[in-house]
Amino acid sequence: MKQAIVVGAGIGGLSAAIVLASEGVHVTVIEAGPNAGGKAATVELDGLTLDTGPSVLTMPDVFDELFRLSGSSLAAEVTLTRPDPAFRYLFPDGVVLDVFHELRRTEESVARTLGSTAASEFAAFMDYSKVIWDTASPAFVYGPSPTIGQLVMQGPRAIAQLAKIDGLSKMWSAIRKRVKSQQLQWLFARYATYNGSDTRSAPATLNCIAHVELGLGGFGVKGGIHELIRALVRAGERLGVGYRFDEPVREVMFDGKRVTGVRTDAGTLGADLVVANTEAQHLYRELAPSLRGAPKDDAPSTSGYNAIVRTQKLATRAAHTVLFPDNYLDEFRDLFDNKRPPREPTVYLCDLGLCHEFDTWGDEAPMFLMANAPALAPNGESPRDEWRVLGEEVLERARVRGLLSPASRVLWSRTPADLAARFPGSRGSLYGAASNSSMAAFKRPANRIQPGLYLASGSAHPGGGMPLAALSGRAAAREALDDLGAP
Ligand SMILES: Cc1cc2nc3c(=O)[nH]c(=O)nc-3n(C[C@H](O)[C@H](O)[C@H](O)COP(=O)(O)OP(=O)(O)OC[C@H]3O[C@@H](n4cnc5c(N)ncnc54)[C@H](O)[C@@H]3O)c2cc1C
Repeated sequence: MKQAIVVGAGIGGLSAAIVLASEGVHVTVIEAGPNAGGKAATVELDGLTLDTGPSVLTMPDVFDELFRLSGSSLAAEVTLTRPDPAFRYLFPDGVVLDVFHELRRTEESVARTLGSTAASEFAAFMDYSKVIWDTASPAFVYGPSPTIGQLVMQGPRAIAQLAKIDGLSKMWSAIRKRVKSQQLQWLFARYATYNGSDTRSAPATLNCIAHVELGLGGFGVKGGIHELIRALVRAGERLGVGYRFDEPVREVMFDGKRVTGVRTDAGTLGADLVVANTEAQHLYRELAPSLRGAPKDDAPSTSGYNAIVRTQKLATRAAHTVLFPDNYLDEFRDLFDNKRPPREPTVYLCDLGLCHEFDTWGDEAPMFLMANAPALAPNGESPRDEWRVLGEEVLERARVRGLLSPASRVLWSRTPADLAARFPGSRGSLYGAASNSSMAAFKRPANRIQPGLYLASGSAHPGGGMPLAALSGRAAAREALDDLGAP
């Protein structure tokens, strides 16, 4: 039986383990932290287990496929929730726009709130977004790592495809060309932040994210996203995957060029193949410094300031609320041009109990807050005072807008410096490299580094976010199985 080691129990690692084990490979997952989940982690606060990471689950079919490999299904493992409304957007001019799980209801809401012209623009934009997704996703999301060579080989067909995925336009200019309502422009532009990118320079291909969330749907998970993580661990266990926690891997071991296993503080462990569910930079710089071809680390995706606040439940509540600043574009200027926290941050709030349908503290609720922040400088320098100011600003803006009760209390918080310390090689960035050029998809590290060594994480193909990290695990495992000569 072939032996595989997966370094890291984040979503990419858990997924790679399931795919490998389902093909008869003996898999051991070795995780530095005390439990599985990586960025999809939890914290215990006042008797509740609360998510500190993702809150919106898209593309649930990706997870269904993984569970089916272990003889189960997504529906048998977790219950998805469809909060109503799905998102509430608060604009500086006082406009409040609710969006729903069903596209038709969102269109009606746009018509009611912003008028019929905006509703037509919205519908046309959603059609455009779907075309991009349908054209781009088979190769760039579900397929193996794309190469420029493949593109060139396709000749004129590639040019036609490029036009369909709007690959040569920028996201923001493509939005402005199609949508005149400033509220809708900002709503669509915000999807650039779903992989930590800059709407002004990201390729318009990222406009497909609107279809993924608004068209295909963004879900909660009953009890919290951690229930999905637990289910992935169980799926691995059913297939014989072994897990070791609190054991950082220090080194990937080689005999010449051949991978032979890993070294931890407990000793060495041999394997026929290693899948790193780590940041690409951590693998190249610390775990396997003899490897050539380290990806550039000059454009990390954004980081974030996060907090969990205990607050009185509000009379009108939404699962997800986005509070826009006076000028949303200033946020991108601050993050990417000035490389500083936004002066007036957009505040994202997730009412965890409402989103994931669980009981909270009676008339009080846990609210997860997030604001975007730049990743740390390459030297790791961290402007501690700026994080404090950002944290205060986030809370103040939410309180002034009545989204938190006056007596609400911060129970837990985390700065980009904390994220950088927890995820080595990340500089605090949440989604690997930012997608701020038309070539970003081609520059992203591939899943196969060499025979016997693979990368499966949000910092590798096809990118960050829960479903993409899971697909990264699947792609890495498939490359490994190909190399092993599995049928
Ligand atoms: C606040 C926040 C909000 C988010 N919101 C969303 C959302 O709403 N929807 C969405 O889809 N995505 C969201 N994301 C992104 C999503 O959580 C990530 O893209 C995804 O979970 C990353 O998975 P991964 O496979 O890259 O592994 P990671 O989560 O990065 O985990 C990697 C694991 O490897 C371990 N590891 C690293 N080095 C070593 C080593 N040397 N030895 C042993 N173990 C090691 C780490 O400890 C970690 O557990 C959010 C993330 C955050 C932080």
